[in-house]
Amino acid sequence: MILGTRIMLDFTYRTLPQRVVFGPDRITSLREEVERLGATRTLVLSTPGKRALAEDAARRLGPLCAGILARAVMHLPIEVARAGREEARRLEADCYVAIGGGTTIGLAKGIALETGRPIVAVPTTYSGSEVTPVQGLTEGGVKRTVRDPRLLPRTVIYDPRLTLPLPPAVSGPSGMNAIAHCVEALYAADANPITSLMAEEGVRALGASLPVVVLHPDDLAARTQALYGAWLAGTALGTVGMGLHHKLCHTLGGSFNLPHAETHTLILPQAAAHNRAAAPEAMARVARALGGSDAPAALFDLATRLGAEMRLAAFGLSEADLERAADLAVESPYPNPAPVTREGVRALLQDAFEGRRPGG
Ligand code: NAD
Repeated sequence: MILGTRIMLDFTYRTLPQRVVFGPDRITSLREEVERLGATRTLVLSTPGKRALAEDAARRLGPLCAGILARAVMHLPIEVARAGREEARRLEADCYVAIGGGTTIGLAKGIALETGRPIVAVPTTYSGSEVTPVQGLTEGGVKRTVRDPRLLPRTVIYDPRLTLPLPPAVSGPSGMNAIAHCVEALYAADANPITSLMAEEGVRALGASLPVVVLHPDDLAARTQALYGAWLAGTALGTVGMGLHHKLCHTLGGSFNLPHAETHTLILPQAAAHNRAAAPEAMARVARALGGSDAPAALFDLATRLGAEMRLAAFGLSEADLERAADLAVESPYPNPAPVTREGVRALLQDAFEGRRPGG
């Protein structure tokens, strides 16, 4: 949208209270950032596979570290959150350092939701969770979303050097997950010109950098650009409401335990195609940012170029599962540019199941 001088502006824009530290080697300021919060007993969190990251953070914190909990699990099962709260209580932790992807930041949020203690997030993927006050919790096979200001990490340290080891098979889908935040922000019911600027710039930064990141994972300039895009994308996610795409991915992740970023990657072009006619301005901005003429096709082509799996069928879902997913996705109403009907969602899922490239 190019704003002319005769267009009236009328919107609500909410800024989130947060300190962001960005740049190569900024992890060296971890201890200083924790001290700034007045914390003395930090609990460092990670996934089991990335315990080494937590150990490195603990070393940097020195006496300010009270312990490590390397137990984060994707989609945060409620039992994992409860065990984390218990450990935080036992250690009398007054701050949580989450070092890793959205899974690790999710565990910190699951603990902070109860205690209200501050989170310092050190993201190493492009999920964007570090800049949102939102948390997905899975209980009894259903993932629900909680929004609470206590969930917003107080400080974020973006160090692109920490993302260098991220393998191409993770970087690609993780970056597409970030692009999905931008696409839905551009057509959100509560979209505003500021968030839209961030969202379009996020698509541009990620669209330009991800193909380089996947080919040359050690390219620090491309990694920096991708992380900058992820920050913009996460900020857009945290500021405006998401639509059909996020709802569907949420359902597929929580109820079928599908991998988060990979699901976003293959659903995004189909969800964009579903919304194409109803959100022409958003589509034009996404296409412009990606240098294409049709947003859904450009998104599909970018994901394919990144080597992503585009067939939902490859993740072991049956066609019967698609019926249940369609039922769950239309259970409660939410804003979306195109009408959300069961028939429409079922057709979208079929296209995703087969990995069909959306036509122009
Ligand atoms: P993830 O955190 O599980 O990380 C993906 C993979 O990357 C893992 O295998 C991990 O080991 C690996 N990895 C992470 N850092 C690495 C590094 N430095 N080097 C090498 N490998 C590394 O997945 P994700 O996609 O980042 O996050 C998904 C989770 O985050 C889901 O539970 C989702 O619900 C949540 N999420 C929440 C929000 C929010 O706003 N609340 C936003 C996005 C995602």
